[in-house]
Amino acid sequence: MSTISELQELLSQPRQVFITTHHKPDADALGSSLGLAGYLRKKGHTVTVVTPSDYPDFLAWMPGNSDVIVYDARRNDAQVREIIGTAEVLFCLDFSCLGRINEMGEYIRHAPGTKVLIDHHQEPEQFADLDFSNSKAAATAELVFEVIRDMGDQNLIDAGIGECLYAGIMTDTGSFRHPSTSRNVHLIIAELLNADINLSDVHRRIYDSHSEMRLRFLGFVLKDKLRVLREYNTAYIAITQEELKEYDSKTGDTEGLVNFALSIEGIVFAAVLIDRGQAIKISFRSVGDFSVSSFSRDHFNGGGHHNAAGGISYDTLDNTVQRFVDLLPQYQSQLVTAPLAVAPP
Ligand code: 5GP
Ligand code: MN
Repeated sequence: MSTISELQELLSQPRQVFITTHHKPDADALGSSLGLAGYLRKKGHTVTVVTPSDYPDFLAWMPGNSDVIVYDARRNDAQVREIIGTAEVLFCLDFSCLGRINEMGEYIRHAPGTKVLIDHHQEPEQFADLDFSNSKAAATAELVFEVIRDMGDQNLIDAGIGECLYAGIMTDTGSFRHPSTSRNVHLIIAELLNADINLSDVHRRIYDSHSEMRLRFLGFVLKDKLRVLREYNTAYIAITQEELKEYDSKTGDTEGLVNFALSIEGIVFAAVLIDRGQAIKISFRSVGDFSVSSFSRDHFNGGGHHNAAGGISYDTLDNTVQRFVDLLPQYQSQLVTAPLAVAPP
């Protein structure tokens, strides 16, 4: 863990700043990036935010969104390499290993600028010069708030910056219900309210802005695709590329599906496996003691948090589902005894 005075020193003169976050940014990834960008611009730095892929339309309201560059290997590779190569300071937010951001990861690894990591995932890779990661934090946006506050600049957090940070904390805590929702989280929200953020607007823009097709897709998935394995307290959903196409699925449309599987009474382990063409992307969630980050790390080349993790498979969807189901017996004792609603350490 680095000290705030090292960061103060680094930012004591106007800098060319680059900010990036993980593949398929969610509200915490984009909210912490744009919240930090808004703050650094107010401090006189020149800031470019580049995301490694596109992100859902329901995040486009965030102030600073129109200046975001979405990396595309075929369209703007040279431009992004140039930005990364000339940046004096490179912030990496809400991801802990460079492998998660595709081609950009290697560009950043070899960039001459100072790398600063702000993240809350487990087992961060040691690639940054300054490291503000803390796996106990509920969201990267919580850590960004603390960095700004500890820099002595909380007064620079306006409603726009505050709403970006609020969005990250709200979504990563599952609307303030996951065990990560600490006293510190609520105190930070109280501080953000001082900056006149509009909680209900943020909630509505993120959770109540679905397309009609997205809701019909959800209906189809819950009716036809949900599998419940009572003997393992496990539920899962597997979705093919054809099904995504049939429902005109857009980036972000599958977000939150896994929570429906987890919302069944007695279920402690849930997974959603989606055929994205190049790979099968998997989301894991659990309640209680069963660690999905360990499960994902051990079997699906992934990681994340104790109760929320992701992984990847390069096999077919059917084979990946079979491999997942075949793994369950060896975890049966953990899955059937896992007590509900126990906070992870
Ligand atoms: P989600 O299921 O929402 O995509 O991801 C859940 C959590 O796991 C997020 O914090 C996300 O950053 C992390 N995560 C998702 N996919 C991966 C992966 O492939 N590798 C690692 N290390 N973490 C992941
Ligand atoms: Mn996060």
